[in-house]
Parts: sequence; C-alpha cells; structure tokens
Amino acid sequence: LEAQSRALEEERRRAEDASRAKSEFLARMSHELRTPLNAVVGFTNVLMKPREGLLGSRERDYLARIRDNGKHLLGLINDVLDISRIDEGTMDIQLGQVNLEDLVRSTAAQLEGRLSGSRVRLSVSFPRVLGPLLADEARMRQILINLVGNAIKFTEDGWIRVEVAADLETGAPLTLRVVDSGIGIPSERIETIFEAFEQVDGSPSRRFGGTGLGLAISRALCRLQGFDLSVESESGKGSTFTVRFRLASPPRPE
Ligand code: ADP
Repeated sequence: LEAQSRALEEERRRAEDASRAKSEFLARMSHELRTPLNAVVGFTNVLMKPREGLLGSRERDYLARIRDNGKHLLGLINDVLDISRIDEGTMDIQLGQVNLEDLVRSTAAQLEGRLSGSRVRLSVSFPRVLGPLLADEARMRQILINLVGNAIKFTEDGWIRVEVAADLETGAPLTLRVVDSGIGIPSERIETIFEAFEQVDGSPSRRFGGTGLGLAISRALCRLQGFDLSVESESGKGSTFTVRFRLASPPRPE
C-alpha cells in the first residue's frame, strides 16, 4: 500500500513539474514574441509621423498595414497567453472595489474611435443608484472591450447599448448588458461561440477578422470572479450579452 501511494505521489509531482514547465515556456515564448513585435509596431509608428514629402500615400498605406498586422499579432499572443493561463489555473485575479459607471464610460470612449465613419450609435445607461462592484477592474475592462468590440464588429447599421442594472434599493450591481442590433447569431451556434477558436463564420474567406478566443476568455474571466456570461440572440435581429454579478445562490437551510 505504501509503495502504491509513493508511486501516486511521484506521478503527481511529475504532472505538476510538466505543467509548470509548460507555463514557464509559454510565458517566456510570449515575452520573446512580444518584444520584437513591439519594436516593429513602435518603429512603424515613428516612420508614419508626418514628414513633409518624405512618404507617398502608397508607402504610408504599406506602413499602416505593417502596423495593423503587428497589432493584430500582439493581440493574438496576449489571447493565447490568457487561454493557457486559464487552462493551467494560473490566471491572476485581483478583486477590488470597481466603479462600473467610470469603467463603462471610459471604455466606451476608448472604443468610439472604431466607430468613426460608421452609422452605428453607441450609448450607455446606468441606474440612479449604483454601488461599487467587487471585481478585478483590468479583467472587467478586458471583458467589456471584447463584448463591445464584437458588437461593433457585427453591427453594420443600427445601435449598440451598454446597460448596467442594479438593485433598486441597495444599488448593488446586478447585470452588465451589451445589446446590439447587428447580424445576430443562429440558434444552433449560440453555445459553441463560447468555445475557444469557434466562430459562426470560420471560413477562410469570412468577412470579419478575429481569432475566436475573445468569448472563451471573457466567460472564463467572469467565472473566475464569481460571475456568469450568457447570450440571447436572433439571427438578423441582434444580440444581447449579459454578465450576471449576483448568481442565484442555493436556498439557505432553515
Ligand atoms: P472573434 O470575435 O475573435 O471571432 P469571439 O470569441 O469574441 O471571437 O466571438 C466568437 C464568434 O461569436 C464570432 O466570430 C461571431 O461569429 C460570434 N459573435 C460574437 N459576438 C457577436 C455579436 N455581438 N453579434 C454577432 N455575432 C457575434
């Protein structure tokens, strides 16, 4: 019996070592990938600074493409690193008091730029009384950027609303909703979109860019904070993504 438990213990240690080695490898790799990419993006920006007559419009266009592709790769590396941290259980969550109204307003302002030239209107709404939320502010921002970013990407004409709801009496935050009037999601795909790398249109010729990691990361980040992320949608009529802060708890024993 003792030999058996020793063998089990040994096996557990080996698995832990392997998992730690994998995390370290990923962290180092992503650092090694990020450093040169930051240089590519940074120096492209330097070259694009207006200098009279130095660059023709074609050269500027090439530089913009280098920069945008570099940024896309950086986003992808960050997403892959997040997914691996989530899988390994090493994602770090730091809870604090979050002012949801400030968070939503500043994130919406940050994303306004993506709407320039489009006919889509982005609006925000808050309850009269809104208390603080116990959450990880940076992770909440990441979730919001993903949800609103998707709403922008999949709404060509119409509107997007970010709505916060709270308990009428206490002001305790209840939900955060991102509602859009965009292309919607076919009912048979509604659950698979939360899986890593899943997209409604995953064909190589698809119209919308992206990696299919955003919702998988967002849902996992919600759960790590004790929240839930769900969606309701109808093809052609838009989508509503809801982060629920207060999960229905099991009834307390008498
Ligand atoms: P990505 O946006 O990089 O493809 P996500 O995980 O964020 O990855 O989303 C997965 C898929 O879910 C998207 O490719 C799209 O098909 C669908 N989706 C997400 N948000 C919306 C939305 N607001 N409206 C319509 N489809 C959406």
